[in-house]
Amino acid sequence: MIIELPQRFRIAGKTNKDYAKVIDGVLHIYGVISFRKVMYELTFALKGKRKCYYCGAKVKKKNITLDHIYPQDIGGPTIPDNLLPSCKECNCQKPI
Ligand SMILES: [Zn+2]
Repeated sequence: MIIELPQRFRIAGKTNKDYAKVIDGVLHIYGVISFRKVMYELTFALKGKRKCYYCGAKVKKKNITLDHIYPQDIGGPTIPDNLLPSCKECNCQKPI
C-alpha cells in the first residue's frame, strides 16, 4: 500500500517520546499506537484540521471529523487518500 505522506510529520507523547515520525519519506511507527490514530493525524497534516472539505465552513479542531469517501461498510480503507476533513453536519448527511 502506498500512502501519501507529508514531508514533516510527528506524533509525540507527553514525555516527548516519538510514536510516529516521517523520516526521509518513510513513516516509522514506534511502540503501541493505534494505526487509525496515525492515519487520522496524517490526514490532518496533509489536508488541514480547520475547514470542512464539503461546505468550506471553518471548524474548531475539537469538532472536526474525518469522512470516509468510500464508506468503511463497503471496504473503504482508513488511509489519508480515503479520508476528508469535514464538519459533523456534512459527515452525517452523506447519502447511504
Ligand atoms: Zn461541512
